[in-house]
Amino acid sequence: MTTPSAQPVRTRYAPSPTGPQHIGGIRSALFAWLYARRHGGQFILRIEDTDRKRSIPGSVEMILGAFDWLGIDIDEGPREGGAYGPYVQSERLELYQTWAKWLVENGFAYKCYATAQELAEMRKAGGGYDRRYRDASNAEINKLEARGAPYVVRFKMPLTGSTIGADMIRGEVEFANEQLQDAVLLKSDGYPTYHLAHIVDDHFMKISHITRAVEWLPSFPLHIRIWNALGWAKPQFAHLPVLLNPNGKGKLSKRKEQFAGADGKSVPVLAQEFIDAGYLPAAVLNFLSNIGWNFGDDKEIFTTAQAIKRFDLRDVNPANSAYPIAKLDWLNSQYIQRADAAQLCRLLKPILEEAGYAVDETRLARAAPLLQVRLKSTRDVVPMAGFFFADWALFEAPPADILVQRKMDGEGTAGILRGSIPVLQGLDSFEHDTQYAAMQDYAKAIGYKNGQVFGTLRAAVSGQKVSPPTFETMEILGKEESLRRIKLALQSLAPA
Ligand code: GLU
Repeated sequence: MTTPSAQPVRTRYAPSPTGPQHIGGIRSALFAWLYARRHGGQFILRIEDTDRKRSIPGSVEMILGAFDWLGIDIDEGPREGGAYGPYVQSERLELYQTWAKWLVENGFAYKCYATAQELAEMRKAGGGYDRRYRDASNAEINKLEARGAPYVVRFKMPLTGSTIGADMIRGEVEFANEQLQDAVLLKSDGYPTYHLAHIVDDHFMKISHITRAVEWLPSFPLHIRIWNALGWAKPQFAHLPVLLNPNGKGKLSKRKEQFAGADGKSVPVLAQEFIDAGYLPAAVLNFLSNIGWNFGDDKEIFTTAQAIKRFDLRDVNPANSAYPIAKLDWLNSQYIQRADAAQLCRLLKPILEEAGYAVDETRLARAAPLLQVRLKSTRDVVPMAGFFFADWALFEAPPADILVQRKMDGEGTAGILRGSIPVLQGLDSFEHDTQYAAMQDYAKAIGYKNGQVFGTLRAAVSGQKVSPPTFETMEILGKEESLRRIKLALQSLAPA
């Protein structure tokens, strides 16, 4: 056990509502959540919507949808409420304005009246903001105020020396102050920037640990100085590594079409894509917690409850990780294999129904053990096992290229199918072992390999190149339906 801090642990995820939830954000949220749960603390969702141009309606619902799906429960937030709300920044503007004013009045910040044109000129000259209003005289300021000139509030960053920040993942990080600008805290429309807003909120929401993407590390010294100026006790900080594209180059982007998974499918990046692709939430949680953190003991498969018992922000690897997408399919198949058969059926039924199949539950329950060891994602049930539920009226004869196995021709295939009909017909039991024994003898008698005969039958009854094993499949379909499908398949092959 790590020693819990004296202060109750309160972590937060503070996304900007800029559209569908990206998996990188969920991974950050997951680490904050695991840490809070480990210490019996609270996990808070706060919506940072102060950049009005970038806010997209519906984003909060998408974030909540993703969390609900994964089972990341939120203690306080816009939906849950809580003692430190509101949890949406645009509803807290007065608070930020109060503290911006306090910083100005106490000499830690100043009003800057630079016009858009002045700023453009400074940019053109190559430097950043030249601090021209930092030391403006009272007379000058009074004049500007008198004519109601618009202003922003900027923080007075020390011009020399350095600032040291303590990070739980990276240790102490030192920054030269001269490299930092006098950042804007409050914009001319009265909206705060991230720099001011998150500090005011993290203080008043009693956040104990700030976990956020490493992209915020360069502004860490600015934040430390603002905390110090306000005189508030700082929380602990953990700048989390980010996910890189699967080839290790560049931050994982939403435009990831160029990266195909092992099976050629595009790589899921948005929460909704994981849901649509049929992954199990438990597998996704396992997958995400294993990126940049590991359970230890070389254990790749672990439950969230087990992760909670071990998780520590201090053990997060500071290096950014390439998105190990190949692991997801493997992990998911492991979770499918371990799933309780009844639970698996509950997951598969709606997917099959959505694809237009009328699902016979008894048949699905019988097929489940065959599928459980073969599915990489629950969505694969449609191409893998839809044929079990195909409406006879709509079931078409599989085309010859599916039926004709390697090193076979149409005539031989038709011969196998025709000859197998009376053999199967004559069986008293249609149990798969009985079928197997009979068809093995049959193959021997006609001089074909087992694989050729079994493969031909499998293609005939499933209409697919890939499907569960032949005799188990036929046992589930039953004798009558299997024979009906075999006879139908003959129609695709040239008449003898
Ligand atoms: N709104 C910020 C972002 O989305 C939050 C950073 C933080 O967690 O403090 O990057």
